[in-house]
Amino acid sequence: MTRADLLERLAIQTAEREHANLRRRLRTIEHVEGPWLESDGRRLLGFCSNDYLGLAQHPQLVAALKRAADDEGVGSGSAHLVCGHRREHAQLEEALADWMGRERALLFSTGYMANLGVLQALLAPGDVCVQDKLNHACLLDGARLAGAELKRYPHADIEAAARQLASRPDAAALVATDGVFSMDGDVAPLTGLAASCTRERATLMVDDAHGLGVLGADGAGSVAAAALGPREVPVLMTTLGKALGCSGAFVAGSAALVDGLLQFARPYIYTTAMPPALAAAACTAVAIARGENWRRGKLQSLIARFRTGAAQLGLPLTDSPSAIQPLLLGDARAALDAAQALEQHGLLVTAIRPPTVPQGQARLRITLSAAHEDKHVDLLLDALATLPRRIGAGGHV
Ligand code: PMP
Repeated sequence: MTRADLLERLAIQTAEREHANLRRRLRTIEHVEGPWLESDGRRLLGFCSNDYLGLAQHPQLVAALKRAADDEGVGSGSAHLVCGHRREHAQLEEALADWMGRERALLFSTGYMANLGVLQALLAPGDVCVQDKLNHACLLDGARLAGAELKRYPHADIEAAARQLASRPDAAALVATDGVFSMDGDVAPLTGLAASCTRERATLMVDDAHGLGVLGADGAGSVAAAALGPREVPVLMTTLGKALGCSGAFVAGSAALVDGLLQFARPYIYTTAMPPALAAAACTAVAIARGENWRRGKLQSLIARFRTGAAQLGLPLTDSPSAIQPLLLGDARAALDAAQALEQHGLLVTAIRPPTVPQGQARLRITLSAAHEDKHVDLLLDALATLPRRIGAGGHV
């Protein structure tokens, strides 16, 4: 096929998406202030950011970033293994390993790359990778990149996962799951998965992008909240771009795991290290996220307020204890219409449609943050109450 043909095919595929109400569009945000966003000259109250603890604009993070940029400049200049691994990265890795209760942590430039890197380093063709059907795209892509046999079990079905492990041929196996599911907000059945992994001699990996900072006594995430340690969850990955308000990711585990990733994880080896100033800001974020329990308390009280109000309105909530509180609407058009109607009320909530979520499960992905106040949640509930009644009719339109 010629180059022109490929572009033509892509254009046709894009037009098909448009036709099915599934076309993705970029929106430029002109300014952010706490939960408020400016777009197209309008000030909107946002319920779509993953800045769950309200740290992205924290003055101490901004100051740490500026200070380190003054000292070190902007770019790291190279990959970690060349000369890009600075003092700020090393300090951040130590702070993260300590927080997670693991021997070591290894920074990656993004969570997407961390998952590709871990799976590609750990798995080889002939191995089996067992995953929840609702895992984040980068866990699925990582298993494919590794050439492993990918088996997907129905969401949160630990018996199905155990069956997939037990019926595998004589092959090494990794079970990988989101800790908190990115589009549903519910927590994975980690204790059951860990028990199956022990029984079936498989390795468990948890991606806790949405649990870190939010769940667990000092915000150590869903794995700590389930009282699981390094023996049960030897591979723990999470990101710096959500509750920590920065960008980047890390894998925490044994010294041997980290050293192995350093040798074999191509998305770690062959890419530029994150800017050292960002690592300095993330180090400050770790101290605040770990120490300031009131942020988690405030977030939990906002979540409870939202869930109580939404239940009173008869809205179709998921079983989510996290900052992610989706409203399942079913049809892509219904989700877009609801998002548009909320925008008329001055609220920015994202409509999430297939293929990000399964067919027939389009939704509003509402996210809450410690940057919100009670009155903001009330504004959201008031606006939701004005949406056509069919939106509250059990998730179907
Ligand atoms: N894992 C999960 C569960 C996520 O939700 C995301 C991002 N949305 C990622 C990994 C990727 O992280 P990053 O944005 O740092 O690439």
